[in-house]
Amino acid sequence: MEFDLGPERLALQKRIREFCDAEIVPRAQENDLKGTFPWDVAKKLAREGLLGIVLPREYGGLGLDVLSLCLVLEELGRADAAIALTVESHNGLCANHLFLHGDEEQKRRYLPRLASGEVLGAWALTEPGAGSDAASIKTRASRNGDGWVLNGSKTFTTQGSVAGVYVIFAKTGGNGKPELTAFVAEKGAAGLGVGKIEKKMGIRASDTAQLHLHDLRLPAENVVGRVGGAFKDAMRVLDAGRVAIAAVSVGIARAALEEGVRRVKARPGDYGLDVPSPGLTYAQKTLAQIAAEIDAARLLTHRAAWLLDSGKPFAREASMAKLVSGDLAMKATTEIVDLIGPEGGSLDSPGQRFFRDAKLYQIGEGSSQIQQLVISRHLLHG
Ligand SMILES: Cc1cc2nc3c(=O)[nH]c(=O)nc-3n(C[C@H](O)[C@H](O)[C@H](O)COP(=O)(O)OP(=O)(O)OC[C@H]3O[C@@H](n4cnc5c(N)ncnc54)[C@H](O)[C@@H]3O)c2cc1C
Repeated sequence: MEFDLGPERLALQKRIREFCDAEIVPRAQENDLKGTFPWDVAKKLAREGLLGIVLPREYGGLGLDVLSLCLVLEELGRADAAIALTVESHNGLCANHLFLHGDEEQKRRYLPRLASGEVLGAWALTEPGAGSDAASIKTRASRNGDGWVLNGSKTFTTQGSVAGVYVIFAKTGGNGKPELTAFVAEKGAAGLGVGKIEKKMGIRASDTAQLHLHDLRLPAENVVGRVGGAFKDAMRVLDAGRVAIAAVSVGIARAALEEGVRRVKARPGDYGLDVPSPGLTYAQKTLAQIAAEIDAARLLTHRAAWLLDSGKPFAREASMAKLVSGDLAMKATTEIVDLIGPEGGSLDSPGQRFFRDAKLYQIGEGSSQIQQLVISRHLLHG
């Protein structure tokens, strides 16, 4: 494995960091407090090409690898984890599902529009009674002549109310044969309704909504992949998504660390660092430990990305990266709020935002427990 990212990836990283510092960081606190989807930022993301990062150029994307996607998402996660989730779910779930499992006609119809930002993408698997156990979804697709009719509800769909293109999962197997099939639908389709928009504790500027499917009629050409084959397809997409989510979590931990370093440097006396000290202080220990663990989590994330880019098995490593990075982001943001003291809990301080955002990243695209389950299966049955 090459540790040197190379000049092109380093230039990309620098460009995105500068873009974030200029366009995203200054508005992140305000967008979080408002809790509404920032369309102006979405337009800027599109202008930067960030809505088609790994899609091949023939579909209007940047044609970059997953390692580059991770670099972009770490920068976005450091700047505003809500914007990072928009980019991650649009690229990593919706567009990637259509790219990996769609037919050529579907790719030509949807991917250039997604890559240009003409429409945002959503990927709707989770239901009120089915999250970790995705095979138990209740949304049903029944044959209707040559096409299908879908009925059911989805919850916690990122971009649920703002997307133009939706990948939706439904059960098509009979009793005792719980097969899932994926469908692509467009905003405005009769029977595709948007329900409650979630008021989340964190990642508040990311749109999260319920979807209600009431006799949503779709032609046969809107089936994505094989009828009955979508469970496996969804798991493949989620495995890759976990690498991307891990990169965002590394970015959140980095944001917290930078906040902590700024604070300690600004007020060294508060931390016993205004006089030479022979021993390790609480602040030094906290910052050093987080810095070391960020590097460890990033290396795990880049290893998983490298495996994915190399066409090698990567599911176990993706789960390890998500588990370690997600837990690190939670730990780092908690400790930095502690380090800052009462001001860290003020809504004026970004520290508390990082803390609230980190929690939801531990849950989305498979909770820490689900990652432990995946890793333990590899250990015990692999
Ligand atoms: C911000 C955010 C955005 C999201 N965006 C999307 C999206 O765009 N599309 C989409 O389809 N979904 C989305 N989700 C849903 C997300 O993937 C689910 O919340 C997640 O998979 C967990 O499912 P659940 O909420 O139903 O929890 P449950 O599955 O009910 O789990 C509840 C608890 O039980 C634990 N648990 C469950 N099963 C096991 C087990 N077998 N062993 C041990 N512990 C277990 C879990 O770890 C968790 O702690 C999003 C979630 C969040 C928070």
